[in-house]
Amino acid sequence: MKLSNSFAALPSTFFTRLMPTPLPAPYLVAASGPAAALIGVDLTDIAHGSLLEVFAGNRIIPHSQPLAAVYSGHQFGVWAGQLGDGRAILLGEIPANGTHDVASTIELQLKGSGMTPYSRMGDGRAVLRSSLREFLCSEAMVHLGIPSTRALCVVGSNHRVMRESPETTAVVTRMAPSFVRFGSFEHWFYQDKKSELKILADYVIKGFYPDLRYAQNPYFSLLAEVTKRTAHMIAYWQAVGFMHGVMNSDNMSILGLTLDYGPFGFMEAFDANHICNHTDQQGRYSYRMQPEIGHWNCYALAQALLPLIGDVEEAQAALSTYTSEYTSKYDHLFHEKLGMKMHLPGDSALFDDLFTLMQNNRIDFPLFFRRLGELQLDNPGGDEELRNLLIDRPAFDAWAISYRLRLKQENSKDEERRLSMHAVNPKYVLRNYLAQIAIEKAQNMDFSETQKLLAILEKPFDEQPENTHYAQLPPDWADQLEVSCSS
Ligand code: AMP
Ligand code: MG
Repeated sequence: MKLSNSFAALPSTFFTRLMPTPLPAPYLVAASGPAAALIGVDLTDIAHGSLLEVFAGNRIIPHSQPLAAVYSGHQFGVWAGQLGDGRAILLGEIPANGTHDVASTIELQLKGSGMTPYSRMGDGRAVLRSSLREFLCSEAMVHLGIPSTRALCVVGSNHRVMRESPETTAVVTRMAPSFVRFGSFEHWFYQDKKSELKILADYVIKGFYPDLRYAQNPYFSLLAEVTKRTAHMIAYWQAVGFMHGVMNSDNMSILGLTLDYGPFGFMEAFDANHICNHTDQQGRYSYRMQPEIGHWNCYALAQALLPLIGDVEEAQAALSTYTSEYTSKYDHLFHEKLGMKMHLPGDSALFDDLFTLMQNNRIDFPLFFRRLGELQLDNPGGDEELRNLLIDRPAFDAWAISYRLRLKQENSKDEERRLSMHAVNPKYVLRNYLAQIAIEKAQNMDFSETQKLLAILEKPFDEQPENTHYAQLPPDWADQLEVSCSS
């Protein structure tokens, strides 16, 4: 494996070069075959070969120039000043195998690989629990068709660190064309360093948005493109019920990828105000707020890029596309989710009524959309499985009458609609309790459940009849699960 590191060619004020801290007696916890294939790595080399030591942070690939990047950001709406890779180390980049939608190279980054100059009060480590959650979810998101950073593997150790109680540590190897964040730009803007700002913007444009080099105002176009990608990413989140939990501007990718998996969650019993992050008492990052916060973050980026764009009105013009980009993507995705090919005037009222129904009945989000695909136009008597998800069944029947009428308006065919709906409404998502079971087993050195869950989540739209119990309602104990920023 040969690595280069184009980020390391930036001025030295952008990062600190340093080695990962060795992880004592490492062992492989889990690895993703599809992620490995992307960079031409053989899984057995990670399991048994020298790559295990590389992804533990114990051995450095020749010519790699490991570094921790500096960035700043707004956390929970407040300017937080300098942050940076407090526990992540960029090893370098590798050519991607085959086609990749964003770039031809992929960066490898270790997360949890020891202290850096940006660790602040932290110990530079990540616990096995949060590492497995990041690993499983980032791969699950990609297979759901949602832009995301990826995870190659999790390497564990019996080395312990203190969180609420002592926990074992792990290192996740993450992959993305770039880990540059909105906060990377804010970092220079708030120090009034226009030349560094320009160097960073030019680096991002050249490497990841090469077409924008020829635009009239490349920085305006960069803002417009990132705004669009961010709006689309959040529309995907809403459509699948994903909640990020910590949408701080330092966790927003300049490539529009879902980045930094912490206290995320998938919507189960529907509540638009659901807060997946136990630490977020105000609900700033609740499900309902995500689209608005995405816009807010783009605003923070616009502010940071303003010295390069040069004109407030232009920056506002780029930003103003957020709402229309979000709305049209969201509208498109919900038409697909409901198996509707045409866009007709009454559709948004039908969607609103559905959300009222879901909210009032706390309907399980994935099960409802999956079962809705089974609906038969001329057989309301066959709706039992759907009705069982609600308390107020007459309310469902009333909505279903409108839905059936609407489907008939476009001459919808049951079988065709079932196939198209099942291709967009996943049967399998990473419910918190499923992750929790895999984590508890892994904490006892049984990694089989993690690998099994990963395999299921790699085919979220397939029926997988042998795994149907992974698609059921959560057990009662799942109500007690709380996910915080502790990681
Ligand atoms: P997060 O909320 O996980 O995105 O983290 C915010 C910032 O805190 C980032 O700059 C992280 O690198 C840093 N950080 C989080 N946990 C640790 C840790 N255990 N050690 C060092 N830095 C950390
Ligand atoms: Mg972060």
